[in-house]
Amino acid sequence: MKKVIAIDGPSGAGKSTLARLIARELGFDYLDTGALYRAVALHLTSHGLEENAPDEEIEKLLRKVRVEFRSGRVLVNGTDVSEEIRTPEASHYASVFSARQPVRQYLLGIQRDAAAHADLVTEGRDMTTVVFPGAFRKIYLDASVEERCRRRETEFMARGVEVNMDRLRLEIIERDARDSGRGIAPLRKAGDAFLMDSTGLHIDEVFRQIMEFIRE
Ligand code: C5P
Repeated sequence: MKKVIAIDGPSGAGKSTLARLIARELGFDYLDTGALYRAVALHLTSHGLEENAPDEEIEKLLRKVRVEFRSGRVLVNGTDVSEEIRTPEASHYASVFSARQPVRQYLLGIQRDAAAHADLVTEGRDMTTVVFPGAFRKIYLDASVEERCRRRETEFMARGVEVNMDRLRLEIIERDARDSGRGIAPLRKAGDAFLMDSTGLHIDEVFRQIMEFIRE
């Protein structure tokens, strides 16, 4: 396995932006594992699976699908779904289906393979705890709920998507609770991860502090 910089944290903490900046700075590949979970959930729902679908049905569909992350895009059976996976509904289903064992098992190999041939910056919920426990550097990136809501609102507005702030806040709180409360690979800070709270900080400052930690 090549060198891995693993970042975990709740939604909207700024993990993707930070990971892309680090990857560019160091010439590492970048892997957005949330995009993989979103793509899998999209595939399952587009085949009619409901939230409480039995494991066997999930496994059956996953046996025949190819999900890939290439050059910042996510592909399902060769089709680019990078835009479709960014709706609030896709976020909801990603969070729901990511709590299921067959989904996590399916993506484990795909995520580890990404570090087989290239140095990697990867971000998600269990990068530091489950997928790459031996990572070269581990980071837990956090931010307050209010700050994460504002960032998500800005992202949606930039894409021309209308947002209701109260609903957004509830969705974030609900997703945090589900991601941290689930039985398999819950979101938590690894004991040896560097904790960075980005609340109130500009991304340039977060990046500066993280690069200092990486180069220590
Ligand atoms: O990071 P992002 O918000 O795109 O992730 C979407 C969802 O995928 C998360 O809410 C989480 O439930 C799930 N996820 C996960 N493990 C990861 C990455 C994402 O469970 N490593």
